[in-house]
Amino acid sequence: MNGFFKVPTPINETVLNYAPGSKERKELKDALNEARAKVLDIPMYIGADEVRSNNTIDITPPHDHKHLLAKFHVSDANHVTDAINASLAAKASWEALSWEQRAAIFLKAADLIAGPYRAKLNAATMLGQSKNAFQAEIDAACEMIDFLRFNVAFMTQIYNDQPSSSKGIWNRIEYRPLEGFIYALTPFNFTAIAGNLPSSAAMMGNVVVWKPSNTQVYAANVLMEIFKKAGVPNGVINLIYPSGPIAADIIFNHADFAGIHFTGSTSVFQSIWKSIGNNIHKYKTYPRIVGETGGKDFVIAHRSADVDIVATALLRGAFEYQGQKCSAASRAYIPSNIWNELKSKLVKEVSAFNVGPVEDFRNFVNAVIDEKSFDKLANYIEEAKKDSSCEILVGGTYDKSKGWFINPTIIVTQNPKYVTMCEELFGPVLTIYVYDENKFDETLDIVNSTSEYALTGAIIAQDRYAIETATWKLRNSAGNFYINDKPSGAVVGQQPFGGARASGTNDKAGSMINLLRWVSLRTIKETFVPPTKYEYDFMKEA
Ligand code: NAD
Repeated sequence: MNGFFKVPTPINETVLNYAPGSKERKELKDALNEARAKVLDIPMYIGADEVRSNNTIDITPPHDHKHLLAKFHVSDANHVTDAINASLAAKASWEALSWEQRAAIFLKAADLIAGPYRAKLNAATMLGQSKNAFQAEIDAACEMIDFLRFNVAFMTQIYNDQPSSSKGIWNRIEYRPLEGFIYALTPFNFTAIAGNLPSSAAMMGNVVVWKPSNTQVYAANVLMEIFKKAGVPNGVINLIYPSGPIAADIIFNHADFAGIHFTGSTSVFQSIWKSIGNNIHKYKTYPRIVGETGGKDFVIAHRSADVDIVATALLRGAFEYQGQKCSAASRAYIPSNIWNELKSKLVKEVSAFNVGPVEDFRNFVNAVIDEKSFDKLANYIEEAKKDSSCEILVGGTYDKSKGWFINPTIIVTQNPKYVTMCEELFGPVLTIYVYDENKFDETLDIVNSTSEYALTGAIIAQDRYAIETATWKLRNSAGNFYINDKPSGAVVGQQPFGGARASGTNDKAGSMINLLRWVSLRTIKETFVPPTKYEYDFMKEA
């Protein structure tokens, strides 16, 4: 096909509001009822086949763990090998397909999510991952749609970036997919991340083996249905459910392993990096290692801060989706002059949160993902109750009889290095340290040196000198830095997302930088009238 095709200019998907009486609310409620009324049997997708192992794991809503939603078929080592083989078998045709056909497939996937699949994908995310309607909408629908549409535009920007050519020659850059297969290893907490990690690599012409988190399989299965409906050919994305170590053992020993696209915890990423390092001599090509990992995200308020802005940044930043965002505010530094006023606002608002199942739309906070997370959080809360440097300002209770419910909790500590100021808890627990309002600079040093992570953070202040000081002093403390806002809620195309230090390779999901990791450049130089003698002029006699 001849033509330099222009792709549609991406615009962020509008977030629907699900207000009472709205069309989207009715469609979502219907989709929730429909999903709850049946028990799905979820296969693996390897090449053209739906594969069942008959070794199944139950999927239950975290907020209603006695209700069976689905069973999925666990993969063993052979399924991992089959998925790799299926991906390699699909590679030649996929990488030869013109880029505009690939673009069309993923633009179609975006439109399927925006239209006929929106309610189904949101309902699956609400039930499988315990997200309320709004949290599901901004993740599963809007962010996934944005990833797909913006990435298509970024892909064309990359392909358009060509070198200059001097007289008599023509230089070209070809953006080849990587030689081998990509492993997409995805987390539980965002359906959009689960979908983006395999699809971004596939969009650039790669073939993929995708392993989601066991607690996100329910919505991953809907994403796979959408990818297939959009026209992703068999074998280009293969969805399997092995244990992490079983998959790692086969994948990181495979000569054709070309890269990992990972989002998850820091410890898992570090173990992956070590395995790849130990096996480096076995690969045909140096694998790309892209990982976005944990965070211990901060909010620091200055004495000039507006108390209502601080309160809202903390209430939304710490407790939306039960604090299970890598970007959730989980440590806050509050100046002494605003503390009393802020304290009463926080206690009042957190006590008023509705906590409960996602099917009741009045609930702002739902359950945490699983029993392991519930037990871990309960343990941190009990330890804080016993510690003389801590006080539980609000919350501190939990109940697992029906779902994994941790009531939103605020710990106030006199020890800025207390464990819950340093470690990622991944739940609705915020720790606050109140500092002397005259020690802003010293407190910035504490913020910078307290955690191994550097994902997100916020400064809240009216004083411009304070904003500038914090922006400079905390320049390595966060890959996404916010001024007078909560530290979460990055939007594709507007705030490319990712952190440094232990938080990851900072390859910025939802940007051109990320897509560049999934191509290997070939430079082509063509000379039109090549020389036919080897001698240069300087060699001639004067
Ligand atoms: P996780 O590390 O437990 O799991 C991620 C994936 O790795 C899952 O598919 C899991 O099955 C697999 N896995 C687990 N143990 C493994 C092992 N030993 N070997 C190989 N694979 C293994 O993470 P999670 O609980 O699903 O997600 C939460 C974490 O992800 C948090 O730390 C959060 O901060 C992080 N996160 C980061 C970002 C970001 O952009 N920086 C975004 C979302 C989540």
